[in-house]
Amino acid sequence: MVAGMSDIERILVATDFSDTADRALEVAVGVAKRQGATLHLLHVYPLLMYALGQDLVPDDPQFEMKLRERLQQKLDETVARLPKELGVTASLVQGNPAREIPIQAEKLGANLIVMGTHGRTGFQHMMLGSVAERTLRHASVPVLTVPGPRPAA
Ligand code: ATP
Ligand code: MN
Repeated sequence: MVAGMSDIERILVATDFSDTADRALEVAVGVAKRQGATLHLLHVYPLLMYALGQDLVPDDPQFEMKLRERLQQKLDETVARLPKELGVTASLVQGNPAREIPIQAEKLGANLIVMGTHGRTGFQHMMLGSVAERTLRHASVPVLTVPGPRPAA
């Protein structure tokens, strides 16, 4: 049987800290309140080797720790802006974002994924950003995609 809206108990919101992801988060907060669901915020950062190219990875063992610290800070700031009574949780995971989002949703027992149609780097003339598109392909639960503040005309 197909899950109804009343079965939404745990929502995973994927964020890249873009304005569009912020709008997705607002929508998720509204759904969580109405459904009495819990919210979990996820950010995935790639392996530095892939992000920067093998030759360009800084020879600094502290680099990843510092990156993690800054990303964790951004996550904490985002959670702090949300209504306290929702008891929002958050996690920071390393990997391929489009692969990790569905994997984490399964791990967390989330029955809805909410994300932006676009993020930080994409072209608005594409219908969906690549992380959004590939998440849709891999996910086994419904995915709600939210357009950014300035939808393409
Ligand atoms: P592209 O990355 O393909 O150039 P884009 O950045 O415009 O395009 P996506 O990356 O697909 O678009 O972003 C769509 C949504 O996916 C974002 O609004 C956010 O909700 C989610 N997202 C993107 N990257 C991440 C990430 N690293 N961790 C968690 N969620 C992410
Ligand atoms: Mn992106």
